[in-house]
Formats: sequence, structure tokens, C-alpha cells
Amino acid sequence: MFRLDGKVAVVTGGSRGIGRACCEALAAQGATVVVNYVKGEQAARECADAITQKGGHAEIVAFDVADTSATETALEGVIKKHGKLDILVANAGIAIDGLLLRLKDEDMDKLWATNVRGAVQCARIASKPMMRAKTGRIVFMSSVVGEMGNAGQTAYAATKAAVIGAAKSIAREYASRNITVNVIAPGFIDTDMTHAMNDAQKEAVLKAVPLGRTGAARDIATACVYLASDEAAYVTGQVLRVNGGMYV
Ligand code: NAD
Repeated sequence: MFRLDGKVAVVTGGSRGIGRACCEALAAQGATVVVNYVKGEQAARECADAITQKGGHAEIVAFDVADTSATETALEGVIKKHGKLDILVANAGIAIDGLLLRLKDEDMDKLWATNVRGAVQCARIASKPMMRAKTGRIVFMSSVVGEMGNAGQTAYAATKAAVIGAAKSIAREYASRNITVNVIAPGFIDTDMTHAMNDAQKEAVLKAVPLGRTGAARDIATACVYLASDEAAYVTGQVLRVNGGMYV
């Protein structure tokens, strides 16, 4: 079950954290994985090497999802090279936290450009070969805070809520083309993004997790493989919450 042999997948922000775990899990199921990175070519290479050392197929491609023209050029290059694109995991994201009274327009703009505009533009470009093939899988990465909110994360949470609205709309738009569009809403996952939190913040979050632990990137990658698989063909427009019960 959940095999992805012969499929081509692009994972944005795939060089570390949740993105890297998704790359490795998709490749382990047989997909050829295109690892996108914006900075940190070394980390992207390490991810691709880890996959090829296990007998999988991976390549790296640089583009900044906030730069629509660069994204279009790079993704169209990938599509031309492989003749198709079966799976897009729109994972790239940034977090800029702060209380509402200190919220800056420039931070909101940066968050929007990467987390929403970037993800949606990737979906737009990726959907072209999917529409031709009349099949495809798009997985967006939202967050538990996009549904439940979080003090100090107004701008970030707003972008993650926006991703859900966008994904549900695209799901309705593309259902007749057999392209499924779903969202993963991770809870508190142990990655560089959450390492930025101090111990008191981490302790407070953990108290709100019924399963009593942080999630691992692998927990998200497993959900990603499922949504990318043929077995999830009847699942579209859904938010899959992988959060240890933090929001139910
Ligand atoms: P991370 O910071 O380790 O990884 C984010 C990746 O996105 C990095 O590789 C980064 O280089 C890439 N990226 C950022 N901006 C980019 C851009 N403009 N173009 C291309 N790539 C870009 O964080 P993570 O925890 O692995 O987060 C992955 C996704 O999961 C993000 O969308 C994040 O918002 C979401 N998420 C994470 C958590 C968590 O607890 N870690 C919880 C909920 C949601």
C-alpha cells in the first residue's frame, strides 16, 4: 500500500525539517523526489544523497517560492525534464512571531509572500501538467494555529488559515480533473522552526498536547505519503490534523 513508484514529486522547502522528512518518505515509497531549497544547497544535497544512498531517486532545485517568476521557471524546468508532475507538497514556510501591538506591515507581507502566495503559485504552476494528465496530488502545509489561533502568532496564523481556504477552493476547482488537494495541519513538531522557542514556551505548548510529546517530522511525512498515494483518491479538500490531540 501507499507505493509511489513512477511518480514525480516536488517538495518545497525540502532540505530540512518536515520538508526533508516528506522527501525521504515519498522517495522510500518509490517516488522520484525534487528537493526544493532557497538557501542551504548543502542541506538539500545531503537530503538527496541520503535518498540515493538508499536506492531512491532525488534531485535538487533552487527557487524562492516568494519569487513567482523564479518559481515558474524552475518548476516548468522540472516538468519539462520529467514530462509530468504527479505530486506537489507545498511545504515551504516561515514563521515571524510577535504580539499584535508590535506587528509590522513588512513582516505580514513577508509571511504572506512565502506562506500563502508562494504556496498557491506553486500549486498553480504544478497543476498545469496535472490537468493534462487528469490526475495529481497537491498537499499544503498549514498549522494547528491556523485553526485554533495562538497569542503572539496573529500574522503567521492568518497565513496558515489562508492556506486552508485556498486549498479547499482549489480542491473544488480541480475535483473534476481528478486532482486531489488536501492540507496537513501539524501541531508542535520538533524542527528548527520550533527550536527557536524558549523552554517556558515549549513547556506551555506541551501541556496542551494530550499525547504529551512533541511530534517528529516523520509523523507529518507519513500523513503526506498517505495523501499523495492512490489510496487517498477519495480524499479531497480535507485538513488532516497531525497534532497529538492539541486541537480536536
Ligand atoms: P523549517 O524552518 O525547518 O523548514 C522550512 C523550510 O522552508 C526550510 O527548508 C526553508 O529554507 C524553506 N523555505 C522558507 N522560505 C522559503 C522560500 N521563500 N522558498 C523556498 N523555501 C523556503 O520548518 P519546519 O518546521 O520544517 O516547517 C515546515 C512547514 O511546516 C512550514 O510551512 C511550517 O509553517 C509548517 N509547520 C511547522 C510546525 C512545527 O511545529 N515545526 C507546525 C505547524 C506547521
